[in-house]
Amino acid sequence: MRPIASPIIASTASPHAEIEISLSAFRSNLDYLRRVTAPADLMVVLKANAYGHGRIEMGTAAAAAGIRWLGALDLDTALALRSAGVTPEIRILAWLYPPGQIFSAAVAASIDLGVSTVRELEQIISTAGGQAPRVHLKIDTGLSRNGATAADWPKLVRSALRHQHAGLIKVVGVWTHIAEASEDDDTVAANRFAHAIQVAESLGAQFEVRHLAASSAGLRREDFRFDLVRMGGHCWGIPSFDGVSPREIGLEPVMTLRSRVVGVRDTGNGIRAFVPVGYALGVPSKAAGKVSVAIDGRLHRVVTVERHWLEVDTGRFAVSVGQRVVLFGTGDEGEQTVRQWGDLTTTLGDEITTRISHTIKRRYIE
Ligand SMILES: *Cc1c(COP(=O)(O)O)cnc(C)c1O
Repeated sequence: MRPIASPIIASTASPHAEIEISLSAFRSNLDYLRRVTAPADLMVVLKANAYGHGRIEMGTAAAAAGIRWLGALDLDTALALRSAGVTPEIRILAWLYPPGQIFSAAVAASIDLGVSTVRELEQIISTAGGQAPRVHLKIDTGLSRNGATAADWPKLVRSALRHQHAGLIKVVGVWTHIAEASEDDDTVAANRFAHAIQVAESLGAQFEVRHLAASSAGLRREDFRFDLVRMGGHCWGIPSFDGVSPREIGLEPVMTLRSRVVGVRDTGNGIRAFVPVGYALGVPSKAAGKVSVAIDGRLHRVVTVERHWLEVDTGRFAVSVGQRVVLFGTGDEGEQTVRQWGDLTTTLGDEITTRISHTIKRRYIE
């Protein structure tokens, strides 16, 4: 049985679901993370539309809360943040560029630029449009995504220092990104980072900011914080550790996903409720049989995830059309958290918020 004849997918905003973003939960996470990571500074990483939370809304809220560093990933996000009124004393770091990127707009907007290769550095300088950009030299410490290899590192540092001497750039940062999957691998990576800093300093570099850790290592390892930690997941209240609740590590979930019951069927062997949010709106199909949703404060198992709806087994509990459903959120209404959804579907929680469709209206509340 299909409870909804023809799902509405052509409209730009889904009428079937609503996302609530709690700005007070976000600010509370930022306050807590800043307290824990001090005296290091906290960078709020806003890539992937702030993991589905809204890059402009989260970026401007972070700036208003006194955050001094934003991580944009791409220049489009960095420039959008400036256009939205994030002033230049708040540093915005970008580090992923398409081939042939022209940097003049970014440099004019005072965007800090991550640099992994001599070629990238030369591309930045030749298209900077006359001003000297602030650059952060990136070393690869094992993740092999980008960053200079240990072999290429001295060449990158020398080239950057030469260009700095000529007044073409300002070398302000040194950084790396680590897997944060095993303590031992992370320790090896951090040692490589410390070594790369020594090599660069012996060549004459002086860095204002050294940064290595993201959410997991930034919270766990004091010795990994250096001058700045870059956090995404923890800012949204999604723990980067398995099997802990946000509150156990001092965080509050920021995103709540709600919908309503649109159909009810009594199978004779239990009642099924239909909720019009399926994988087309980003609910993972792997959630079927695994996650539960809250209806009237009580959790019920999702048994099927279809393209446009979920089927929920409410057993002998009567439910009615129009009743509110909380898919995931803070837990305050009996629902599971994003982190629990992540554990149950063996994905990172932040993958779930990131994939929830942008067509679902985000409502920002205090
Ligand atoms: C995504 C990202 C982060 C933040 O990662 P979380 O685990 O979400 O905190 C930090 N640094 C870089 C370079 C990233 O790409």
